[in-house]
Amino acid sequence: MTVVAHTIAEVRQAVSQWRREGKTIGLVPTMGYLHEGHQSLIDQAVHDCDCVVVSVFVNPTQFGPGEDLESYPRDFNHDFALCEAAGAALVFHPEPEELYYPNRSTTIHMAELSEELCGKSRPIHFDGVCLVVAKLFNIVTPDKAYFGQKDAQQLLIIKRMVRDLNFPLEVVGCPIIREADGLAKSSRNTYLSEAERQAAVVLSRAIACGRELAASGERDPHAITQAMREVLAGEPLADVEYVEIVSQACVKPVEGLIDEPILCAIAVRIGTTRLIDNFFFDPNA
Ligand code: AMP
Repeated sequence: MTVVAHTIAEVRQAVSQWRREGKTIGLVPTMGYLHEGHQSLIDQAVHDCDCVVVSVFVNPTQFGPGEDLESYPRDFNHDFALCEAAGAALVFHPEPEELYYPNRSTTIHMAELSEELCGKSRPIHFDGVCLVVAKLFNIVTPDKAYFGQKDAQQLLIIKRMVRDLNFPLEVVGCPIIREADGLAKSSRNTYLSEAERQAAVVLSRAIACGRELAASGERDPHAITQAMREVLAGEPLADVEYVEIVSQACVKPVEGLIDEPILCAIAVRIGTTRLIDNFFFDPNA
């Protein structure tokens, strides 16, 4: 049976009961409007842990001014049904007032790793993500927490925060789940018109192009990003924000040839909808 908790106290009560029973706990943080990408994280957590908590919370502190906080899609009944079918033990669905004190004064700043890629156009985003995830870690005290590679910069940042702040848990990264035509699943895909939805497939085509070049031995980051830009340029509805190859260790652009594990990431606007996609590559694997 899957339980809904709206308060921190309810979560803590369930968690202490599980701890008394010697159970392991997995956490899957989400903003809801769940799809197969989220479900793959929950499935992995249910496979690994005795009790799984899914948080459904559209976190205001990670949205900048003019972003889509108010219009972000929400459907809690659907989300609950998905969590229940996947075997989650508890769905934590707080109101913003439950998580954030009006006079809260503690922040988390993620330096360096948050400065490139999405951090350039969303300067407060990753600090807001770190804040809410740190709070969820303290509330749920999971043994393992699950994050998608879909948000690759976020995954690297959460791993860094867990190391730097000594959270006693393991961060598990999960692969990107895609639509049949390759488009990475995202709650924001619902913003796309039919024509935009067709155009959006160009992101995964550019990613496939870059991955194939890297796999076939190309080590010049500019050669790879240039080829990807050419794929994107073939789609008139695509407005490129960035196409970049960065070090996985520090999320800084790779200078010279690729000789360490990299993240190749893109952000593209299709109409007014901002979409992201990426691949990891290790030249020494
Ligand atoms: P969100 O609700 O967008 O904040 O996402 C919650 C978690 O689900 C994050 O760790 C995301 O990286 C992950 N996620 C979202 N979309 C996908 C996808 N297509 N494949 C794998 N994981 C995903």
